[in-house]
Amino acid sequence: MKKTSVKLPAASDSILSSGLSRRGFLATTAASASLLATSAFAGTDKFARDRDWTGEAPVTYPEPAWEVLDKRFTGRQGNATLQRIWHGKGHNAALWCEGPVWMGDWGCLLWSDIPNHRVLRWNEEDGHVSVFQTESGYSNGHTRDNQGRLIAMEHDTRRVRRREYDGTWTILCDSFDGKKLNAPNDAAVHPDGSIYFTDPGYGIMGPYEGHKAEFELPASRVYRIDPAGKVTVAAEGPMRRPNGLCFSPDFKKLYVADTGATDGSQYPANIVVFDVSGTTLKSPRIFADFAPGFTDGIRCDTDGNVWCSWGWGGMDTNGVRVHHPDGTLLAFLHTPEVISNLCFGGVKRNRLFMTGSTSIYAVYVNAVGHALT
Ligand code: MG
Repeated sequence: MKKTSVKLPAASDSILSSGLSRRGFLATTAASASLLATSAFAGTDKFARDRDWTGEAPVTYPEPAWEVLDKRFTGRQGNATLQRIWHGKGHNAALWCEGPVWMGDWGCLLWSDIPNHRVLRWNEEDGHVSVFQTESGYSNGHTRDNQGRLIAMEHDTRRVRRREYDGTWTILCDSFDGKKLNAPNDAAVHPDGSIYFTDPGYGIMGPYEGHKAEFELPASRVYRIDPAGKVTVAAEGPMRRPNGLCFSPDFKKLYVADTGATDGSQYPANIVVFDVSGTTLKSPRIFADFAPGFTDGIRCDTDGNVWCSWGWGGMDTNGVRVHHPDGTLLAFLHTPEVISNLCFGGVKRNRLFMTGSTSIYAVYVNAVGHALT
């Protein structure tokens, strides 16, 4: 199995504490000068994670949050800045944002605020945020089927649902072999109309994101719902807790994030890639490792690069990692909060939206999202 090791520079290596004399510093490259300007406005962190996130203070281009590690990476849009487009305050504050989905025809982004039992909506036209849905069943991940209908993974009600055009909901799956699903987490849709979803069970491990209940089914499965509604097991393991998932642009591969490390650091924190073979998944191998921390939500761009949320391994793991289809880490977008999930959006699907713990972040990129959402 191929395993990618990652070495990232320490975030504390601030350019202002590097030991350079002032004269020597002023003689450095224009790129360094731009970093100095950024730091002068935003603070001392070289990725400007300590910037004024209200957007009032200027940030000097190129956007300092990007750390490009491989020259093959072309996804950075140099004259686009990382924005925190929403951060709820007071009673509106979010606790754990997840499950972003771009609804282009609705002109909005939807995402889950799981502990607050609601789905929120960011309006593309004016940036207004409102509640799209209360009593969401503590939904987590969302996606859209090939007809554009919203698909929701519900923690508390332990089911996969589809929202119809008239606003009613249809239950697609809530059990398998007569046993209740654990707590569906995320899903991806194949061109044949089937929906692949994971069921790691985080919604039944306590009252915060659902309710405590016994596991009736293995947490290690990827299920497939065919267009007729028949549910089968597409894969069982090697993941411990399969979480986010996405197809490669040619739909020949399925990437599955494993957040098994939530059970302890001895367990996986990686992405497993499968070959899609008919209705099953074959030949699992490790695509990339994310310890310390782990990735949760993932999406491919049209070039096949895999954009991966990252966090839970300390401040220097907060952000988004971009991996080449061969597994190589290409770039890292540093953020001040743990990123749980992400999706591409906008009319051109060239804007990356990130659910960042209690905030929503967005950045235009020089890449195009592969899937409808
Ligand atoms: Mg997830």
